[in-house]
Amino acid sequence: MEGMIDLFQKIGLTEQRAKDTAKNKKLAPTLERTITEAGVQDGCDKNIGALLYTLASTLNKEATPHLPYLAQAVISGKLASTEQIAAAIEYVSNLRDSQINEQEFNQHCGVGVVITPEQVQHEVSQQIEQNKEKILSDRYRCLGITLSTIKQNPELKWANGAVVKDEVEKQFLALLGPKDERDQVVKGKKKEKKEKPSADKKASSAPVKKDPNSIFFEGELSRLHKPGGNKQIKDELMIEHLKATGGKVVTRFPPEPNGFLHIGHAKAININFGYAEAHNGICYLRYDDTNPEAEEEQYFISILETVKWLGFTPYKITYSSDYFQRLYELAVFMIQKDLAYVCYCTGEEIYAQRGGAEKGPRYECSHRNRPIEESLAEFEKMKQGQYKEGEAILRMKMNMQDGNPQFWDLVAYRILYTPHHRTGSEWCIYPTYDFTHCLVDSFENITHSLCTTEFTQSRPSYFWLCDAVEVYKPVQWEYGRLNVTNTVLSKRKVLELVELGHVHDWDDPRLFTLAAIRRRGVPPEAINIFVRELGVTTSKSTIDVARLDNHIRDHLNETVPRVMALLEPLKVTLTNLPGDYLEEITVPNKPRDPKLGEHIVPFTKTVYIDRSDFREQDSSDYFRLAPGKSVGLLHVKFPITCQDVVKDAAGNIVELICHYDNEGEFKKPKTYIQWVADSPAHNSPVKIDEIRLYEKLFFHANPQDKTAVPGGWLSDINPDSIQIHRGAILEVGIWDVIKRWYEQAVAKQHVDRIEDIRFQLIRIGYFCFDKDSQFNEEEFKKDPSKAFKSLILNRTVTLKEDSKKEN
Ligand code: ATP
Ligand code: MG
Repeated sequence: MEGMIDLFQKIGLTEQRAKDTAKNKKLAPTLERTITEAGVQDGCDKNIGALLYTLASTLNKEATPHLPYLAQAVISGKLASTEQIAAAIEYVSNLRDSQINEQEFNQHCGVGVVITPEQVQHEVSQQIEQNKEKILSDRYRCLGITLSTIKQNPELKWANGAVVKDEVEKQFLALLGPKDERDQVVKGKKKEKKEKPSADKKASSAPVKKDPNSIFFEGELSRLHKPGGNKQIKDELMIEHLKATGGKVVTRFPPEPNGFLHIGHAKAININFGYAEAHNGICYLRYDDTNPEAEEEQYFISILETVKWLGFTPYKITYSSDYFQRLYELAVFMIQKDLAYVCYCTGEEIYAQRGGAEKGPRYECSHRNRPIEESLAEFEKMKQGQYKEGEAILRMKMNMQDGNPQFWDLVAYRILYTPHHRTGSEWCIYPTYDFTHCLVDSFENITHSLCTTEFTQSRPSYFWLCDAVEVYKPVQWEYGRLNVTNTVLSKRKVLELVELGHVHDWDDPRLFTLAAIRRRGVPPEAINIFVRELGVTTSKSTIDVARLDNHIRDHLNETVPRVMALLEPLKVTLTNLPGDYLEEITVPNKPRDPKLGEHIVPFTKTVYIDRSDFREQDSSDYFRLAPGKSVGLLHVKFPITCQDVVKDAAGNIVELICHYDNEGEFKKPKTYIQWVADSPAHNSPVKIDEIRLYEKLFFHANPQDKTAVPGGWLSDINPDSIQIHRGAILEVGIWDVIKRWYEQAVAKQHVDRIEDIRFQLIRIGYFCFDKDSQFNEEEFKKDPSKAFKSLILNRTVTLKEDSKKEN
């Protein structure tokens, strides 16, 4: 102990730190070894000592065998910062069995890269210039995010962190001046401003725009091998592979066509297509169709449609079933190599063979050592249909002694008589996922087989099988699954919800299948930004659905037109206007944003307002309409004043008698409300048959949590997850929205579905058309205002996170 304390002090640790370190059972021996490997037992410069300490304290198991190399790299000055040490540890940890390649190591760790202060200055000012508007409005509040965005700039990867920070602070100061009261952090919730209907929420809460592709160059994804860097059992395999791909990155998105894709798949799609795209590579869409029992045509169609909708184009569409013949031949090859055997064990027998606490030790079955010739003949009989389902299987001869269950003689083939949607009854033996996945990856020359962490255990068996049949071996790498709160995603569970009638179909807007999300009006851009912003790590995550909602709002706020809408219309007669009075008022589609255009709304003697904008009982803090009181109508020149209230026999208010204050002195109204005029010539008002408002489908964040939901996930269903509102009316601007959408679609040469028509109903929320709306397609192209038999809207999201109560 004394000796250790002394040694640690020699490399510059303070006495106290040396003592504490010596007490640390894990760190002390590692640091001692690091010092020895570095050859500085007699002391060294304090800065070098600090780097050695960092190396020792961050060293992991995989990197430990490479400690001598790493310690020397510190001594020789190659690794001169904590960032470089972290990169070096990552590099060696991912080597697995291969050797350190000095050139690669240097490149990975930025050895010898010098970043001058001028470069830092240049990159920082560029970033600040690009986000100037945002910085000017958010001021010092966005210092942190700006700094972290700049740190992700690949040009500055090896820059000294402190220098970058100084530079950002310096440039903020130059741009904004010193901090003042605008920069004070407001504690607690911000007070909501009194609403002014025309005032649209500024998107000032949106983070500084980050390059959406940056996730592929950060963290673990940035450390994946380069094509050609994965070792093969035979060098020719790599030569052939590189000849086929030209050295490009090749990925695939491999869904099983047994259901609709969900929000989690959006992550998988973004990672696979995005990683390839970011590296100028290609990505396949591969239907993993090896189970004819679960697959249906509608799933195939929906999967492709969804991938395209998210904005991705597969390089090629393939099917695992394309390779049935080749897979079969490799299965025969394995039997010939004595690496597979035909087995008659049942599921229960196999389960028993796996051993365990109560089942005793693991054991091999009697078929395992049958002669090769016998297995070949039996496999042929399986293929010929001489066995019933479940009577015989082909198992791989792996290693029953291995600690990893993925080596306990996995099933490679099973018998199924259900016809396959593509190969019909050509086959009655079907390869399993374990047998198919890695081999098809190999056939397609996939460089990076990216999948979710439940396959981590399968990684070694994936490699084993490729090597066993002597084919090119891709690299598998796993990332964490994405889940969101208050829903279930698994296809099996969604199918159950559909079958039990809790939701109408796979695309019921209350679900989180991508088809459902689309039908609810969510723009694909918001989903892509959402999944990319979460980044890619190996940890599983359940993300609050509110976070997705915020992305949806941010995107819609910027992109969609506004339309006046009244959920509960109340008739208003403007007594001083003549019966044929007509003003055509030009209204911006989005206030203060001319690029979204404008449209015309008629203003006449009879208008409607929303019932909630009138009160019989006035009060001093109420600014909308009441008897004797004035209010402005959005975009209309003069205010109106309520003179009288008309009621029916039951005492319900049915009409307001008002005056249009277009003579005398102009008095600016305290507030403006929405309205829709009666004008049959303009087809106004537009009557809406149904507005569908959605709430969470499950009460709990995790309906599958047995402690929180002891009755099981189905007991957690919210019976009021959908509300249907009838009787609403809209202004005619909605036709303009449809026309514009249609013109744009024609210009893009791609007409989307009507649920892709999105808009804001002022003060109510963001909406789209539901596909249940009935319309005549031919008429639609000419004049949408005459095409609809029924109009049904879906609420995509409320305007604000807590505006639920408002409605
Ligand atoms: P589920 O079990 O949720 O129905 P799955 O895993 O069976 O889905 P597949 O069709 O096999 O779905 O998945 C295709 C690809 O998408 C796979 O690579 C899978 O790892 C990935 N994937 C599936 N679910 C998620 C998720 N929640 N997050 C990220 N990736 C996912
Ligand atoms: Mg699955």
